[in-house]
Amino acid sequence: MSATINTVLGPMNANDLGSTLVHEHVLIGMPGWFMDARQPAYNRKEAVERAVDAFQELHAHGVRSVIDPCPMDLGRDVEVMAEVSQKTGINLICATGAYVEEMGIPWTLAQLNEEQIAEGFIKEIERGVQDTGIKCGIIKIATGRGKVSDYERKVLTGASIAAKATGVPVISHTEGCSCGHDQIDIVCGQGLKSSSLIVGHSCGADDAPYQKSLAERGSYVGFDRFGLIVEVPDEVRMKNLKALSDSGHREKILVSHDYVACFAGGMGNTTPDELKKILPNWAMTHLFENIFPELKRMGMSQDDIDTIMVDNPRRYFEDAWAAVHG
Ligand SMILES: [Zn+2]
Repeated sequence: MSATINTVLGPMNANDLGSTLVHEHVLIGMPGWFMDARQPAYNRKEAVERAVDAFQELHAHGVRSVIDPCPMDLGRDVEVMAEVSQKTGINLICATGAYVEEMGIPWTLAQLNEEQIAEGFIKEIERGVQDTGIKCGIIKIATGRGKVSDYERKVLTGASIAAKATGVPVISHTEGCSCGHDQIDIVCGQGLKSSSLIVGHSCGADDAPYQKSLAERGSYVGFDRFGLIVEVPDEVRMKNLKALSDSGHREKILVSHDYVACFAGGMGNTTPDELKKILPNWAMTHLFENIFPELKRMGMSQDDIDTIMVDNPRRYFEDAWAAVHG
């Protein structure tokens, strides 16, 4: 029996995922984004238009599905996602779950225990976000640099309980190639298979041994920040991606840009124009226009790219689903 995935427009068969980007954002609002009153007012209509433009380009490159792992505390708006999906034909999968303690909104979940946190996440997967009826298809977890805080450990444990109960997989945020193994430990400690986890942002440092060690444990390795060249240049990402593939772990690689089509209220002191200057290639089409052609010049095949874009995302959802629904 094949797996069912919750998209923002309803259930979908995992076989229909097609070419999939695992980490892009329709809309992000940093915690307290509305407190910088100098910023232009948030305009929902403009946000939808901008996201539709960006996602339409993806469709032209053959992408059929996108995971938007925006956690509950980064301005998540599942109704905006539903509108973008409707207007572009891209299947969008939204997330329940929470962000890093330091950059998120930790007060509310800090009051709850692991079981209570799980209960809330399960509600969003089985019955939908608030009263929208839009159900989450993935759980977002996050850890900061170098150390998992007590708060993060509790949320990760709650997330793992919810994943185990629902058959929905887990996707993570990490910083500087750290704490991936802690994440695997916590997820597996609640009885999930390591393959139910994408260790996100695993391209966040030039650390091939770390990347290989995650794949060896069976988790997916997210090379999901192509174009975000502030932390690591893309040349390093490509070199390490190919090395991981060559070492026999092609089936554990997933790619994306962590692009944000729209920021509500801006990004601190960085203006959109400055962002464009610092990150000239940060766009959801960068992989197709620049990275895949270069990976082919480096010796990777179309079959390798199809495995990474189509087969790996499908297997990720199917295995998590099968663990619960058999
Ligand atoms: Zn992200």
